Amino acid sequence: IQHIIAVSSGKGGVGKSTIAVNLACSLAKLGLKTGLLDADIYGPNTPSMMGVAEQNPKVTEGSGSDQRLIPINKYGISLVSMGFLIEEGQPVIWRGPMLNSIIRQFLYQVEWNNLDFLVIDLPPGTGDAQISLSQSVPISGAIVVTTPQQVSLQDARRGLAMFKQLGVPLLGIVENMSVFIPPDMPGKKYEIFGKGGGQTLAKENDLPLLAQIPIEIPLVDESNKGVPISISQPNKKSSIEFGNLAQLIKNQF
Ligand code: ADP
Repeated sequence: IQHIIAVSSGKGGVGKSTIAVNLACSLAKLGLKTGLLDADIYGPNTPSMMGVAEQNPKVTEGSGSDQRLIPINKYGISLVSMGFLIEEGQPVIWRGPMLNSIIRQFLYQVEWNNLDFLVIDLPPGTGDAQISLSQSVPISGAIVVTTPQQVSLQDARRGLAMFKQLGVPLLGIVENMSVFIPPDMPGKKYEIFGKGGGQTLAKENDLPLLAQIPIEIPLVDESNKGVPISISQPNKKSSIEFGNLAQLIKNQF
């Protein structure tokens, strides 16, 4: 794996998984060999978002530590998620050491095969998973996702501070749910979660604001149907933003 990109957020529900999935799809559309590791152990949603929730990844022959998990392939992406290994609706209640070991297995016992980029969807917050990951593998860079809202910014600040402490390079901020453009009134914009949050956070930390993703209804619909918007509707504003984000990430390396 050439480059590992961690997608994180201070709190849940800000669209971190949506960003990780669409970033991975957009990197693959640039012709890059891309993997997606859903390390959001407590809420692994990427199999549903990618339309592969029913599938079970196979393992290679052998036994014990010789065995490797074979990722599921969809939209040109190799996907591994905790969601494949637990029954739907089951909670995952693990303590730090177990979490550490599953994250290491996801990194070292999967047939990732010469990827250009591995995008990692981290759990929200500043916990064991982030620490395990940064100690298990060199992360090329982390992206912090926030909405423009103040409470989201406060949590994002904690996330940024953690990556700095762990010595993980920061690539920049992605502001999600920046504005809502009603489909029947494309001339109008509603700043539902406030304004300027991503820019503030970027300035405070001397980081670039990599993308501002609007609220778009198809982002919800398509995600429910298991087709990321950047695949199903590449001309939507959010898909274009995801494409630009992928290009920016590619250019960094
Ligand atoms: P997180 O990973 O931060 O918990 P998700 O990516 O699961 O967040 O997103 C939470 C919900 O918000 C999902 O239903 C998703 O479809 C929706 N969502 C995320 N970003 C957008 C957006 N820009 N426009 C509309 N809906 C969005």
